[in-house]
Amino acid sequence: MQVTTDIHSTKQYCRKKKFEHKKIGLVPTMGALHAGHLSLIKSARASCDFLVVSIFINPAQFGPAEDLEKYPRDLTADLKLCQEQAVDIVFVPSAKEVYPEDFSTWVEVTGGFTEILEGVSRPNHFRGVATVVAKLFNIILPDFSYFGEKDYQQALIIKKMVQDLDMDTQIVSMPTVREKDGLACSSRNIYLKPEERKAATVLYKSLLAAKTVVRNGEKDSSSVRACMEELIAREVLAEIDYIAIVDAENLQKLEQIQGRALIALAVKIGKTRLIDNVLV
Ligand code: AMP
Repeated sequence: MQVTTDIHSTKQYCRKKKFEHKKIGLVPTMGALHAGHLSLIKSARASCDFLVVSIFINPAQFGPAEDLEKYPRDLTADLKLCQEQAVDIVFVPSAKEVYPEDFSTWVEVTGGFTEILEGVSRPNHFRGVATVVAKLFNIILPDFSYFGEKDYQQALIIKKMVQDLDMDTQIVSMPTVREKDGLACSSRNIYLKPEERKAATVLYKSLLAAKTVVRNGEKDSSSVRACMEELIAREVLAEIDYIAIVDAENLQKLEQIQGRALIALAVKIGKTRLIDNVLV
């Protein structure tokens, strides 16, 4: 396993493999790797000849009041996990390497994909994500790139970017990996104090409740939302940021649930903001 920190040598390794017609896989991450990341890495390892995992806490996708400084970092454990999974390259660039001082080009996906859900609460977040992922695609030239459905909106935005900009990579989205009690694995779960950790199960509980009412025939989005709000309100440590029911293909708000719908929410548990979603 090679650990690279500069773009030039990472490009050289990957272009050599490309020239040898090896299938390159990319798993972009911000590190503090957990079971969710591991499922992406395992799936990529099984399908690709040459596997690159990037670890980069991308400052461009954090808002000024967000947790960039205290975002969990554990490079030693991350490298161990990558080594165990036979990753070929772990690319760990610095912020300066990715964004040199004169950096001035940004990738923005519009058309309703970024102006809703996370995009409302986190302006510029997806501009930061799309830009860094576009750079990773140019550096690594992956045939397959792996994203988690836990960040459903992000995966959809990346698919749109690939389609609109004729990028040569196939996006593979992987199901959300959860803890035993249903909480979606997230690097940010580490912030939760024990009582908050218990309270955090309310996100998935409310999504499962929503799924049940929809399965029982409820089509009205506001009724489904009300049912989730009521359940979350019972948890004193939880504060809803948003609950949204949208078309799973284009993220347009749905008054009535029809076709494939995404139910997504962001909830603050104490100071920690968590997101989750289900498809119905
Ligand atoms: P992050 O390090 O949080 O930027 O995540 C890197 C990748 O892992 C993204 O594609 C995420 O959607 C994916 N991911 C994060 N958490 C999970 C999870 N619980 N299950 C599946 N994929 C996940």
